[in-house]
Order: sequence, then C-alpha cells, then structure tokens
Amino acid sequence: MFKLPTSLDIQFIEGKYSIPLVVLSFLIAFAASYTALFINRRIRENGFFHKNVWLVLASLAMGLGIWSMHFIGMSAFMLPIHMEYRISITILSIIPAIIASYLAFYFANRKNTGIYTFVAAGIFMGIGISLMHYIGMAAMEMEAGYVYKPDIFILSIIIAMVASFASLYIFSLMNNFMDRIFVKVVTAFLMAIAITSMHYTGMAAMQFYTIDEITAGHEKHEMDVIWVIVFVTISTVSLFLLAVLTSQLDKYVDFRLKNFDALTKLPNQKQFTDDQKKEDKAYSVAIVHLHNLEKYIVAYGYYVADEMVKSISESIEGLLPENVKLYRTEANRFTIVNTNKEQSKKLYVSLEKICAVLKHPLILGEHSITVDMVCSLSKSDDPAWVQEHFSNAIAVLQSPSTVYSHEVIEYNPGIHTFNFERQLMVDIQEAMDNGDLFLVYQPKVDPENGDLVGVEALIRWNHPIYGMVSPGVFIPVLEESQKIYDVTDWIVERVCEQITVWNTANVPFGQVSINIPGIYLTSPRLTSTLNENLERYGIHPAQLELEITETSVIHDMDNAIAALEKFREKGLSVALDDFGTGLSSLSYLKRIPISTIKIDKSFVDGVPASEKDSELLKAIIILGYSLKLHVVIEGVETDSQMDFLRTLEKQPTVQGYYYSKPLEANELEVWISRKTLEIIRE
Ligand code: C2E
Ligand code: CA
Ligand code: CA
Repeated sequence: MFKLPTSLDIQFIEGKYSIPLVVLSFLIAFAASYTALFINRRIRENGFFHKNVWLVLASLAMGLGIWSMHFIGMSAFMLPIHMEYRISITILSIIPAIIASYLAFYFANRKNTGIYTFVAAGIFMGIGISLMHYIGMAAMEMEAGYVYKPDIFILSIIIAMVASFASLYIFSLMNNFMDRIFVKVVTAFLMAIAITSMHYTGMAAMQFYTIDEITAGHEKHEMDVIWVIVFVTISTVSLFLLAVLTSQLDKYVDFRLKNFDALTKLPNQKQFTDDQKKEDKAYSVAIVHLHNLEKYIVAYGYYVADEMVKSISESIEGLLPENVKLYRTEANRFTIVNTNKEQSKKLYVSLEKICAVLKHPLILGEHSITVDMVCSLSKSDDPAWVQEHFSNAIAVLQSPSTVYSHEVIEYNPGIHTFNFERQLMVDIQEAMDNGDLFLVYQPKVDPENGDLVGVEALIRWNHPIYGMVSPGVFIPVLEESQKIYDVTDWIVERVCEQITVWNTANVPFGQVSINIPGIYLTSPRLTSTLNENLERYGIHPAQLELEITETSVIHDMDNAIAALEKFREKGLSVALDDFGTGLSSLSYLKRIPISTIKIDKSFVDGVPASEKDSELLKAIIILGYSLKLHVVIEGVETDSQMDFLRTLEKQPTVQGYYYSKPLEANELEVWISRKTLEIIRE
C-alpha cells in the first residue's frame, strides 16, 4: 500500500479537482454537522424519549454526512481513467463513521468532563473518519494502481484527530449556547473543516500510477455524474428528512407532554390556560371534583386509583354534550368549559347525569368503590370571563357549605364566600351557650313489632342570620379546627343529661346514638369526656351508641381500633355509619370492632323500582347478619320501600321519614306515647 511496484514502465497519473464539487462536499459536511448539532441539543433536555434516541439520531446524521462528503469529494476528483465503486464495501464504510460520531457525541455530552476526555473523543472520531475514508478508498476499482505517501497518510489521520478534538472541545464549550443559531453555525463550520480537511489530505497522500498505456478518451470517468447526483440527493434528502422529522417529533412530544395528561389523555391545566388566549369568555364553567383522592390511593394503591380516575374520566367524556371542552386541571378535578349558549341547559343535565352515575360504585377488578364527589357550576346568561367562572366554581368547592353529595352545586355569591365559613366558626361558641344549637332525635324502629329500638341524636343550628343551617354544612367547617371537639363534648353532655331525664320519667327510648367525627375518635379527650359524663349522670353505657364512619377509622387504623375496643369493653355500642359509601372493604369490616352497620340511604333510594338496587340491598343486609351485626337501614321514606323490607326473612331496624323525621325531645316523648298507645290498641 505504501510501496510502488518495481517496474520501469511506471507512469504517474495526476488528478484534477472540480471546484464546484469540492465546495458541494464541504456544504454537505456542514449541513450534516448542523443537523447533528440540532438533534444533539435534545440530549441535554429531559424529554419524552430517552436521550440515547437523540444520541443515535445525531450520530446517524453525522455519520451519513461524513460518508456523503467523502463520496462527493471523490467525485470531485477527476482521473483520466475508468473507475467504479464496489457497493458492499461502500455501504460498509458508513459504519465506522456512525460509530465514531456516536462515541464523539457521547463523550462531548458528558457532564464535568476534563480535557482528556476530549482528547480521547478526538482520537476516536479521527480514527472513525479515517477508517471511513480509507475503507471508502478500498471500495474503488480502477484501471490504475495507487500507493500512499506514508508521511502525508499519517498526517491525514493526525489532522482528522486534531480537528475532531478541536471541534468537539469547542462544541462542549458552546453546548450551553447551542440555542443560538450563530453558535451552531460556527461549530458546524469547524466540524465540516475537520471532516473535509482530513479527506483532502488523505487524497493528497495518494499517488496513482499505471504500468500500461493510459487508455485515451477517459478524461473524466462517466460514473461520476450519476454518483454525485445519487449521493447528493440521498444525503440531502435524508438529512433534511431527519431534521424535519426530529424537529416535528420534538415539537409534538413536547406539546403532548406539556399540554396533555398522561393518564386520561385529556388536555391539562396548561392547555386550559392556553385555550383562554384564543377564547376567553364562556357561558359556563363546571368542575367535577373527586374528594380525597389520597384516601383511595392509601387504601388501594396507585394502580387502582389511576384506573378509577381513568374510568371516571371516560364516563364524564361520554356524558358531556359534544361542543364543550373537558380538561383534567388537577389530579382530582375535571374542568368543563362551555362557550355555546344553546348548550347551557344540556350541560346542566349532563352534569346531573355524571353525578348520578358516580353515585353508584365503580367496579374495578375485585374492588367496588364509591367515589365522594361534587360538581360545581358557574354560569351566566351573557358570556363572562372563563377565569371568573372558574374562580367561582372553585369558590363553591372551597366553601364549607359544600358537601360531597353527588350533586351539581351552582355558584351563589351569598353562600360561597370565605366570610360565611369564618362567621360560623365565630358564632358556634355563642350558639352552644344561648340555645341556638340544639339536638333532635330520630327514632329507629324494629318493623317486625313496631318497637322503638333507639334514637339518633342529630344536631341543629338555628342561626340568627342564616336561619336553620344544616349540619351537613357546619359540621365540616368545624371539623377543620378543634372546635368540633368542643361541640362533640357539648353533644355528649346534652345527650347524657337527656338520658337521665328520660330515665327518671321512664321514657322507653332504647338507646341514643351520637355521631363521632373522624378526627375526634382517637383523641384521649373523647374517652375522658365519655367517662366523665357517664359517671356524672349515672348512665348505663348500654344506653349509648357511637356512630363512626369508615373513613374516619382508616386514617389511623390501629389507634382507632384500639379506641373502639376500649369503648366496646366498657359496654358502649358502636355503629358503622353510612355503610356502603366510602371504601366498604370487607377486610376493614372484619377488623373494626363494631356492633351495628347503618346502611346508607343511597342503597334504599332505588328500591324497589330498580331490581339491581333491591338485590344489592338484600345482599348487604344478609352480609351484615352473617357477620353477626345489628343492621340499621337509613333513609326509608315510602310504603313501597317498607313493603320490600317486609319481604325479607330477617328485617333490619329502620330509621327514616317513613317512621319519623328527627324530633325535639318533647316531640319525641309525644311520639313514643302515641306509638305505645297504638301498640296497646292493636
Ligand atoms: P347522618 O349521620 O348520616 O345522619 C342521617 C341524616 O339523614 C340526617 O340528616 C337525617 O335527618 C337524615 N335522614 C334521616 N331519615 C331520612 C329520610 O328518610 N329521608 C331523608 N332525605 N333524610 C333522612 P341531618 O340531620 O341533616 O345530618 C346530616 C349529617 O350531618 C349526618 O349524617 C351527620 O354526618 C352530620 N351530623 C348531624 N348531626 C351531627 C352531630 O350531632 N354530630 C356530628 N358530628 N355530625 C352530625
Ligand atoms: Ca349518623
Ligand atoms: Ca348515615
């Protein structure tokens, strides 16, 4: 390869360069370097694709560029003889170019690299470019022989290494400024010089000779033009496609990641804000709010919680009218924007349907989950700012008066303000002292004989300004602070006082149930309040029942169970309230030491009209009895519901308007005496 044959007839052949093609070869090298830098920028950003994807794409662009540069450079060189390329080796020669580019970019992109890393990277890159070049040369078949001048041959490799090192080093210094086109242009220019200077030095190392006569007429080999066209076309088109593809992919992935929710595929909060730049007014904005998502995550894990959100999102999407926009603005909130006046009514109906659907348990694998939710709505007759509607809808959700009752709640400026909540907090103390706060008692009846089994104490507040405020409104407000402890203590004392009065007057009330708020259950203060009052009023613990909810137990399972066990040991009954809403996991049911379950009103609402609901209710009642628990059913209102219950083999205790609304103590006494009379008359 370096030695000329020993023949006397050797004739050296001089080649000539076509300047336009030399320029073209440089431009190709430049374009490839620029594309590679452009793609490479992605490596440093945390994106959707792994950074190796971008690294490989950048290496492909660079390798392809070096390769095309070489062949265009070859075509620029004219010899008065015939020559051809062997396709297999030609294609093979691209491999070292790509590998060298990969290594070079790999090293150059590493953080905190010293100069030696770049020396190593420069050597790799230089070897890669040189290998590509000399393999490419070996692919040539021609009528002439050639040798390399050893000194220039070595020089070409050194140039490749030094120029690679220099451009990589500059590249790394400039990497933080690659956003600027100018920096990319300069760096690409340097890289193109590295590639081309190696090539042309390598060519200068070649000496062509022939031993035979030169066949006349081959001033310029015919293959060249076709090769040039093919290479220029392939390389520019590929580079162009690669660049366009990556930049489009880049933009798209970026957009999807930033503006869409990965789980539900719905547009997210950012898209919600972006859309307002285009259309900032609407007739209504609604928010579907799922309450306490963490509760489900804690109970079932992320996978089930995700499936739950996904399934809810699909239900919502399916029920909404067509022209409204749906977003997942927060993990537990879906926002709906309606910009169409005719659609307002339809939207309201859809929202009600959504609430109705979510009232039923979702079946996810082995779990049956009922989600606490509410839907807030702000609407106007004329278009109003989306942001204003949105704030109103949020105000509804933040208002203490809002309960997660599977309802659509419309924004009402009189109620949904922060003042209301604060006012209640302030007023409650006075209400306890002056009699605005009082208790009512709702009977629980055994339907088989009409006997009064017990009563549930329910709190009432006759507020001087707001009138009768529902406990569903103010209890959650009080639960936000320790005020609820004071109020519960007050209730316990009032109930004990009442029990002594009834005991003395021989009123057969059975047992009184008190609702215990979740956060108070595990407090030692509750234990002492109960003990003190039972003792002070001389009450038998069996006359008291505590109503707790599943959710309140789950927060602090072990302590809650320990507290409940103590209460049970003392002789108090414990009822699990609102059974069937919430999590209703059988494993919890078995662990919590309760004596009674109170089946939630929602299970009886559809009975007997819905066969499915009726069967479900029956199954829950049977379940309760099979666990040897008392079963109370809440919210029974109608004759037909009662008729259904009467068909059951063992009838649960009934609490509901069918027998009586909650009554004040004296009203209850009247109710009891009337009932006793009825029974006697029968
Ligand atoms: P809860 O403990 O589930 O109480 C049952 C609720 O259902 C009561 O509403 C009762 O009046 C109502 N109800 C009973 N039968 C029927 C019926 O046939 N039809 C209908 N539509 N409703 C019926 P209330 O008194 O408004 O209480 C609502 C919630 O407020 C209670 O739900 C409870 O969570 C809370 N609460 C009420 N009083 C107290 C209390 O003294 N302390 C605590 N911590 N919470 C209370
Ligand atoms: Ca209750
Ligand atoms: Ca209840």
